[in-house]
Amino acid sequence: MAFSAIVVAAGSGSRAGGDKQWRAVGGRPMVRWSVEALLSAGADSVIVVVAPGAEPRAAEALAGLSGWRTVAGGATRAASVQAGLAAFELAGDTPVLIHDAARPFLSAAVIGRLLEALADADGALPALPVADSLRRGVDGLVVGGVERDGLWRAQTPQAFRLKTIRDAYAAWAGPDAPTDEAAVVERAGGRVRIVEGDARLMKLTYPEDFAMAEAFAPKTTRIGQGYDVHRWGPGTSVWLCGVEIPHDQTLVGHSDADAGLHALTDAILGAIADGDIGDHFPPSDPQWKGASSDRFLVYAAERVAARGGRIVNVDVTLICEQPKVKPHRQAMRERLADLLKLPLDAVSVKATTTEGLGFTGRSEGLAAQAVATVELPCLASTA
Ligand code: MG
Repeated sequence: MAFSAIVVAAGSGSRAGGDKQWRAVGGRPMVRWSVEALLSAGADSVIVVVAPGAEPRAAEALAGLSGWRTVAGGATRAASVQAGLAAFELAGDTPVLIHDAARPFLSAAVIGRLLEALADADGALPALPVADSLRRGVDGLVVGGVERDGLWRAQTPQAFRLKTIRDAYAAWAGPDAPTDEAAVVERAGGRVRIVEGDARLMKLTYPEDFAMAEAFAPKTTRIGQGYDVHRWGPGTSVWLCGVEIPHDQTLVGHSDADAGLHALTDAILGAIADGDIGDHFPPSDPQWKGASSDRFLVYAAERVAARGGRIVNVDVTLICEQPKVKPHRQAMRERLADLLKLPLDAVSVKATTTEGLGFTGRSEGLAAQAVATVELPCLASTA
């Protein structure tokens, strides 16, 4: 069903200690979660209502997405929503979802339920039943209970036909401020249906909510693998996993030929499907001649961070007869942990021989293979 949406991101967020809508949660700016979820669920247009002057922050937070535009909000939430509604040039029967940016983890399932409910109602809101018992308290003392039957915790987005919500706001007499759009439509005599909400749609209000949201943030786990080989040649030391080991030969290559770092760099790039080391550091480019491979690994880690992801663990296997890796293994793990800013127990370096078989067995070359696990943010619908 064709629909459009308004995301209200105009609040000062003072209870969360500042402009929370621009703050990163689960690896992306909070407002981006909602806008991306709405666009990916098929919204034709999304209006993001921001405080006047905050347009550049929205552009930064929503970079790379198309189908949205900003509208300057008003002094109150209701004024901001009305500014958004006024900006639509759509048929009056177009469904419009009105959403708070402070509820980032919106799923396609909730959007679907809301649109479906509009078939026989003037509005729809997602809500969760109240599970805790409710008590009235005065001065820290219980002074009675509140029957929780029939009580729901309302969430957003809330769905209406464009004309319905515009007319209802026009009819709002005040003087009180509406708590949400459902209240406006209800007072205008409309029927607002309750559909099943989602615990992940929690509203992030206080600083401590953000810590909980990190655990709630939808993530996907990716695995990448890498493999590299370099040939032995004359030398006095060899670089392996960022550690220089005295040896009667060296590995030959355009850079420092650290096959361990090269395999691991490819594993990390592989986990985020971002090409391979040769794409980013072409051997034809003279600036990488003799380069320390540390920078390749750090660059791959930065690519993960730029996607809002984090490396969970890495595991490297070096395949050679010589040199003996074991005496250097701890130093290698510490070096990799340092470069990747990972705890030591998330970094493994192993070694094996091939029992004299093959090119590694004949000590013609050394091979390295690696795997890396990465967590990336993903839409609630696909988690
Ligand atoms: Mg290599």
